Amino acid sequence: MENIAILGSTGSIGCNSLDVINKLNHRFKVVGLAAGRNTKLLDEQVEKFRPEIVSLEREEDAEEFRRKHKSKSIQVTFGQDGAEEVASLKNCDIVVSAITGINGLRPTLAAVKSGKKIALANKESMVVAGHLIKATAREYGAVIIPVDSEHSGVFQCLAKEQIKDVRKVILTASGGPFFERAHQEMENISLEEALNHPRWKMGKKVTIDSATLMNKGLELIEARWLFDLEPHQLEILIHPQSIVHSLVEMHDGSVLAQLSPTDMRVPIQYALTYPEREDSLMPSLDLSKIKALEFFEADVEKFPLIKLARFVLEEGGSYPVAINASNEAAVSAFLNKRIKFTEISDVVAEVVENHQKREVENLEDIFCVDRETREKTRNLLKERT
Ligand code: MG
Repeated sequence: MENIAILGSTGSIGCNSLDVINKLNHRFKVVGLAAGRNTKLLDEQVEKFRPEIVSLEREEDAEEFRRKHKSKSIQVTFGQDGAEEVASLKNCDIVVSAITGINGLRPTLAAVKSGKKIALANKESMVVAGHLIKATAREYGAVIIPVDSEHSGVFQCLAKEQIKDVRKVILTASGGPFFERAHQEMENISLEEALNHPRWKMGKKVTIDSATLMNKGLELIEARWLFDLEPHQLEILIHPQSIVHSLVEMHDGSVLAQLSPTDMRVPIQYALTYPEREDSLMPSLDLSKIKALEFFEADVEKFPLIKLARFVLEEGGSYPVAINASNEAAVSAFLNKRIKFTEISDVVAEVVENHQKREVENLEDIFCVDRETREKTRNLLKERT
């Protein structure tokens, strides 16, 4: 039996992880859950999976939860400290890191420092602190298995390869809901349209990032650290069917690819059972039904955040922290209907273009740049709303 803690248990990845664990309950047991504010769903998860510890985002929710479940022997905690506690539980083997945004960074690092196997879905922590997470993982013997479907694909392609033999890695992108939308019509996109992803059912933040293609920009930076690649080795390709999740071109001209049904439970299960595989009860991929797999270059004029993310990938230093912070703030403003869709990229571009690069060596440096950039973004947003 392996014990699992889930950070972000009530989100999309958290729920899919619990579904996988439920099917594989002969080998996995849930010992810890960290959630945000969805206490109702956490209630149901606790009834079903009986963890030893849960954490909620807010103290008042934790207090109410404690009262409600006082008959059970369950520890209830809250906040970033609470999530860190769940991440570093002594009797836990695997941590699913699926809190959205930079809020996932401290808990992810806590899991790394505890030498766990980490199923990493929180891409933002790799974007802002990739070098730090990798160095800490080496020091404490933690193993990081990507859950992001493209990175799971690369990881699987590279399982029996050496990184020195890789010429380049291509991450595919569905293109999001606006792949076919005319450039001049991008301004009038509504929140509802942007939240309606054609292929993947995901949380709100990553769904908007997929619509602006910023998600792919973040994934380029994530891949750089996960696989120790140079920026020039990383490319993206639009693939509307979302069946091929990534391609790895070797120096000898061979191209390896990973294909699977478009369902996050596939990469989640792979991360949990790695290096083994289990029967997933997933329907088989039927290519004769899909018929055509298409690939296109990304339109960087229509999706300027791709170009900006590439610049950030090559510059490094504090730039990844700045682009992530401004994007999180701008996406949140769009989700609250304060700005138009195209203003997300306008605002992020303005912040990143005015950013002064510096070195970020530790968590304090990272959070300092994050705070400053959010402040600048908020001021820009105020001028626009
Ligand atoms: Mg992805």
